[in-house]
Amino acid sequence: MKISKKSRDIQPSLTRQLFNMAKNYSDVIDLTLGDPDLAPPIEIKKAACRAIENNLTHYSANAGLLQAREAIAKHINENWKVYCDPSKNVSITVGGMQALYMALLSTVEEGDDVIVFAPYYPNYIQMIRMCGGTPIVINAYKENKGFVFDEKDIEKHITEKTVAIIINSPNNPTGAIITKEALKKIADIAEKHDLIIISDEVYRTLIYDGKTSDSILQFNNAKERTVLIDSLSKEYSMTGWRIGYAYGPEEIISSMIKFQENIAACVALPSQYALIEAYEKKVDNQYIVGEFEERRNVICELFKDNDKLSFVQPDATFYLFVNIKKAGMKSLDFALELLEKKHVAVVPGITYGEDYDNYIRIAFTKEVSILTEAVNRINEFCQALG
Ligand code: PLP
Repeated sequence: MKISKKSRDIQPSLTRQLFNMAKNYSDVIDLTLGDPDLAPPIEIKKAACRAIENNLTHYSANAGLLQAREAIAKHINENWKVYCDPSKNVSITVGGMQALYMALLSTVEEGDDVIVFAPYYPNYIQMIRMCGGTPIVINAYKENKGFVFDEKDIEKHITEKTVAIIINSPNNPTGAIITKEALKKIADIAEKHDLIIISDEVYRTLIYDGKTSDSILQFNNAKERTVLIDSLSKEYSMTGWRIGYAYGPEEIISSMIKFQENIAACVALPSQYALIEAYEKKVDNQYIVGEFEERRNVICELFKDNDKLSFVQPDATFYLFVNIKKAGMKSLDFALELLEKKHVAVVPGITYGEDYDNYIRIAFTKEVSILTEAVNRINEFCQALG
């Protein structure tokens, strides 16, 4: 049987591989996926149940229910201070992932280049390839400085084949927030080279210590060329509900809607009604943010005397990006041995870019008592390395 070249080129991620291997151990603590253990707010769950009880469960428009798009338009206008026409600028998607993929499908031709900053969300790389494009990776992380890049480095990589640039703030896997100044520089470069900006902000509300995150959409020269990606997955702990959306220029959004007709038709209706509830009622997610902030504090405190590991306390997200250089092992070996010996599953840093083989990513998606046990096991593992 002949399988397509594109299919042969796509490899399952190390994240999923470790996640699958973790299932072999009954007492495993799995800190691989970015899938929090918390329940979504009760009012959101009730809205989805009402939709099912009232048989509001048919197909919707490919772009999503107008009422849901109106709620998103209002939300976007309030949060990003940009005009959003619900019938032209919004498409509801199967999570942020489908928004990303359809935005790329709409803008990337065979042979085009897309700039991606590392460490990156690995799916960007695979999705760009699925569209026939080439990811051009630029390192943009310094342990004590967060997201930093050299403008000349970006310019050097831009050619007539470059069509888009993906940014992700707050960032998976580092938890770093891109500063306003850096966003402005990216906006200027995108304008100069006429690039589409795909701004993935799915962790926008998971920010700690009263910090905030800026969006590239606040710059006038970025507004017309930016596709914003957002989702309910992380904000409301609704990963399995598969609902997200894209906001952007009419040409790109209408193209995404055409793809949607042929890919999924629409997002499941109970999830769309859940979004209406979340956005119309401005449902609070502070209990989720508070819980992650506490977990972050606990995990950082418990690791602080481990001289084999170093890390920067993340300002956002539920990930700790840990430097394992002093452990003297490559990231995959570290992750495999940790799983085998201590039954704790983490993601090897190599997944996030070639230059991050000295790191592992730990998702603090389990409650404090379980996290404490996991950190104790990791500390014991590191001590035994001598
Ligand atoms: N973008 C980033 C950076 C992510 O980490 C994830 C999920 O882990 C997504 C997008 C997609 O999330 P979802 O499709 O669940 O909205």
